[in-house]
Amino acid sequence: MGSHLCDALLGEGHSVVAADNLLTGRLDNIAHLKNDRRFEFVQQDVCFPLDCGRFDFVFHFASPASPVDYAEHGIETLRVGSLGTFNVLETAKQSGAVFLLASTSECYGDPLEHPQRETYWGHVNPIGPRSVYDEAKRFAEAATMAYRRYHKVDTRIVRIFNTYGSRMQVNDGRVIPNFMRQALRGEDLTVYGDGTQTRSFCYVSDEVDGIVRLSRSQEALPVNIGNPNEFTILECARQVLEITGSKSKICYEPLPKDDPKQRQPDITKARTLLGWEPKIELVAGLQLSLEYFQQEVARLAAVTPGRD
Ligand code: UDP
Repeated sequence: MGSHLCDALLGEGHSVVAADNLLTGRLDNIAHLKNDRRFEFVQQDVCFPLDCGRFDFVFHFASPASPVDYAEHGIETLRVGSLGTFNVLETAKQSGAVFLLASTSECYGDPLEHPQRETYWGHVNPIGPRSVYDEAKRFAEAATMAYRRYHKVDTRIVRIFNTYGSRMQVNDGRVIPNFMRQALRGEDLTVYGDGTQTRSFCYVSDEVDGIVRLSRSQEALPVNIGNPNEFTILECARQVLEITGSKSKICYEPLPKDDPKQRQPDITKARTLLGWEPKIELVAGLQLSLEYFQQEVARLAAVTPGRD
C-alpha cells in the first residue's frame, strides 16, 4: 500500500521520502521509482527517532498487517504501533506537518455491530493472538488524538478495510494472495472454518484514492475506507477459481482463534465527507491483479524451486 501511495503522491507533483525497515516490504515495489528525483528511500525502523528532513505531510503506514506477519512479529508490531507512532508523530510535530495514521478495521475486533460505523468502539480481545495488532493500532489512534489535543498536531485517521492488489507478498498469508497462489499452482484452496465468515474487499487504487482524499480534508476523527460489498470467504474462493480458470479444489482448515466472523464498512462518512466511493468490484479487481500474481508465482518458483 505504501508504494501505491508514493505513486499517487508523486503523480500529483509532490516530493516523497519513504522510510521502511523492509520487515515485510520489498524494494522491488519501488524499483520503478529509482530514477525519480522527487523520490527518496531510507531504510529505517521508525521505532528509532527519525531524522530525514522536514515535511508538509507525514503518512504513518509502518506495521506488519497480515495476521500471519503480525503473529510472527508480535513484539515488532506492538513496538511500531506504540514507539513508532510516537516517533512519527514527533516528526510531524517538529515539521508542523499534517499527520495521517493508517489504522484498521481490526480496531472493531470481532464486531457486534454490523456494518461497522466509525462510532462503534469495537469488540477486541486484549490478550488474544490478534491483540498485538489490534491493540497496537488502537493505541496508535489514541496517541494520534493525544498529539492533536496536547500538541495541536493536525491529524487524520483512516480505518483501512481488507485491501488487495498488486505488490502484495504472495506468501503473506492473507486470503486473496493465498487463494491466488494456490489456484495458480493447482493446489487446494485453504478455507479456514466453514467459510461463512465474511470480508469486504477493496481494490488498492480505490483505497489509495480514499486515503488521498482524506489527507486533503479537515476531518480529524476516524474515517472508514473500504468496499462495502460483502462476501463470504467461500464466495471469495469461488471467484478466484473462476478468474484463474483453475481446477483446484477447496479444502477446509481450522478457523484461527478470534478470527472476526463478519466485516463490512459503513462508508456513509467517506461518501458524504470526501465524495468517495469504491469503483472496482471484486471480480474486476481480481482480474486486474491476476497478471501480478501470475508473475510472482512464476518468480518464486524460479527462486526456490520445490519449496516456495
Ligand atoms: N482465510 C482463509 N484461508 C486462507 C487465508 C485466510 O479462509 O488461506 C480467511 C481468514 O480466516 C479470515 C479471512 O479469510 O476469515 C480473511 O483473512 P485475512 O488473513 O486475509 O485478513 P483478516 O481480515 O483476517 O485480517
